[in-house]
Amino acid sequence: AVGTVVAGGGQAGFQVAASLRQGGYSDSITIISQEPRLPYQRPPLSKTYIKTDAAFDSLLLKPDSFFEKNAIAYRPAETVDAIDREAGFVALSSGERLPFDHLVLAVGASNRVLPIEGRDLAGVHQLRTAEDAESLRAGLTDASTIAVAGGGFIGLEVAAALRAIGKEVTVVEAANRLMGRTVSQEVSRFFLEEHRKMGTDIRLGTAVSAILGRERVRAVTLSDGSEVAADLVLIAAGVLPNDGLARDGGLATDNGILVDHHMRTEDPRIFAIGDCAAFHSPFAERTVRLESVQNAVDQAKLVAASIIAGEDTAAIAPYRAVPWFWSDQGPFKLQIVGMTAGADHVEMAALGEGGKLVAYCFRGDKLLGIETVNRPGEHMLGRRILAEDLVIARSEVAAEDFDLKAHLA
Ligand code: FAD
Repeated sequence: AVGTVVAGGGQAGFQVAASLRQGGYSDSITIISQEPRLPYQRPPLSKTYIKTDAAFDSLLLKPDSFFEKNAIAYRPAETVDAIDREAGFVALSSGERLPFDHLVLAVGASNRVLPIEGRDLAGVHQLRTAEDAESLRAGLTDASTIAVAGGGFIGLEVAAALRAIGKEVTVVEAANRLMGRTVSQEVSRFFLEEHRKMGTDIRLGTAVSAILGRERVRAVTLSDGSEVAADLVLIAAGVLPNDGLARDGGLATDNGILVDHHMRTEDPRIFAIGDCAAFHSPFAERTVRLESVQNAVDQAKLVAASIIAGEDTAAIAPYRAVPWFWSDQGPFKLQIVGMTAGADHVEMAALGEGGKLVAYCFRGDKLLGIETVNRPGEHMLGRRILAEDLVIARSEVAAEDFDLKAHLA
């Protein structure tokens, strides 16, 4: 046996290797990682890392010794450049050809590049990697006015972090609400108000149309004609899946690498997981691509189990891990369980206290999921509801004295 090759050493690539070993897989495991460092967590990058002087090591998923102890060959600063399915090997940037029994594509996603003037000026940043975060952190030392292009999770997390260290922040969002792809109107509105209270200038329904400056950025112009001063710009306009490698290898892609309910591509030896994978979600009832730690980790665990099970695919249950996500924005922890974007009715629980919120998101009478702010208890109960397929009616939730915990007891 020649073992498993993992393309990508992010959250998903790391997890599949770790779970293979934990499950008793004894063939070789090689992770080919474009990034120069050991696998690390990205979530802190937009939250704490940029506003503190935390060391990179605090982000590591595991120390160096873990890889040695578990006989996982981790090869940094190298890429998988091509897949030869017929011959069963991958071609690496080093020129080497690496044969595989199983290949796991865990290549993640890349930041969307805005096709606007001035995007290459000094002082224009993006945020995906630890290097990006360190460059942003360094740039902040002599920047006081920051413009963020994009009112999604990352743009808003950064905005809150930078307000907390006294920067002037403007967030520019093309849609007419914040986090519009993922949360309900109600939760969007809550965060709009709270960010404004934090002192962030939020512009909705307008886009950054150009970045101005000679060598360094000095301002951005918006599609509504206004100009906003900025000595640092963060482009946080979403990501695109890294699915070109798979496509060039003759595998089907459609906003992500298409996989079945075992995260297998049409080639039974090749899997795709995490941010790069497009799969049918029973929670969304359509093909989706999710960008979350939960999704990367759960899909990796399932693929490790599949590889270990070998031919016995019937032994592996289809992927149906409950999707959940969190985002820390200033003092607010937003947690989402389920796929709430398709909701047509939202029932808000009256909590009687500021800064806390529970939004039950329904489509028809079906509870799609729950969005909470600073209510971790309801979030955890929500995971249980979706995992166990418990039925909760809209009319019950709408009752004045509805209490989720009591209801489930
Ligand atoms: P990645 O972590 O992107 O890893 C893919 C790796 O593959 C990268 O290192 C890439 O360089 C490498 N690669 C690409 N092509 C090749 C190739 N051809 N050969 C070799 N290597 C290659 N999720 C949450 O749930 N909660 C949060 O609060 C949260 N906050 C976030 C904050 C930030 C700033 C960012 C960027 C993401 C955040 N996420 C959060 C999302 C989460 O980090 C991702 O969903 C997760 O990292 C996906 O893991 P992945 O392994 O699929 O992709």
